[in-house]
Amino acid sequence: MLQRIVQSAAGAILLLVGAQVSAHDLMTLDDFAAAIGWDFEGTEIRTEKVGDTLYVLFGVGGNIAVSVGDDGVLIVDDQFPQMMSRIKAAIAELGGADIDFAINTHWHFDHADGNLTLGPEGTWIVSHSNARAMNMDDHVINLVSMQYGQKAYPAAALPDITFDDRMQFHFNGERIDLVHFGPAHTTGDTGVFFRGNNAVHLGDVFNGAYPFIDADNGGGHGRHNQQADVLVGVPIAGVRAPSQLDQATSIHDDDRQESRHMDRDLEEDARHIDRE
Ligand SMILES: [Zn+2]
Repeated sequence: MLQRIVQSAAGAILLLVGAQVSAHDLMTLDDFAAAIGWDFEGTEIRTEKVGDTLYVLFGVGGNIAVSVGDDGVLIVDDQFPQMMSRIKAAIAELGGADIDFAINTHWHFDHADGNLTLGPEGTWIVSHSNARAMNMDDHVINLVSMQYGQKAYPAAALPDITFDDRMQFHFNGERIDLVHFGPAHTTGDTGVFFRGNNAVHLGDVFNGAYPFIDADNGGGHGRHNQQADVLVGVPIAGVRAPSQLDQATSIHDDDRQESRHMDRDLEEDARHIDRE
């Protein structure tokens, strides 16, 4: 969940306490939306230009990065089916047509439920292999004061293409790196680096505060720092933030002490990216 949503969720916790909702009740999407004030019907998509071929869309759920150009349309995260007609309209205004690829930064509903629409329509969905595995079964996302029940996706909404450590797209005139650093916000986080636009989308690994870690589903504390270190090290100036990356440097500084505990192999990963 992104910064706005985390902030909203904090308010929702108070709301839920006031309403005396049992901490053990599993919330549906309607429950969750009502609790934190999401408005699927009334929320318009806001578009912000990031670079020559890259935009970010703000709606309900995780922000969407959109690459539009001669090769077609590639998006990062896809929000919700309820928002999809407006998402597509926003992409059309940018000159795009069908969504060719949708990368899920992770399996959480607010970033991937749009798969339920895009998958059956033929969009190629891409994720880390662990994210796909999580989408195959029911899971409870434990937000401490709220427990959200995320249902398994049907086969058509599951990622079609997965990777384990890293992969590259060569799309719309730039190289797009997908990198997984190990357990962080979830077990299947993907950082998406748009090399030609000096931009990165990190899903919920950075969202303006120290991120929620989905520990009940295998998320891990230590690996956020690898992403922070890599970001500081990558040879891209003026990194922009489809997903609140502007916060990355301060988070990195706050947690520099902990980053000393990085595993050796992941330090190597960071150096490898630094050299590229
Ligand atoms: Zn998430």
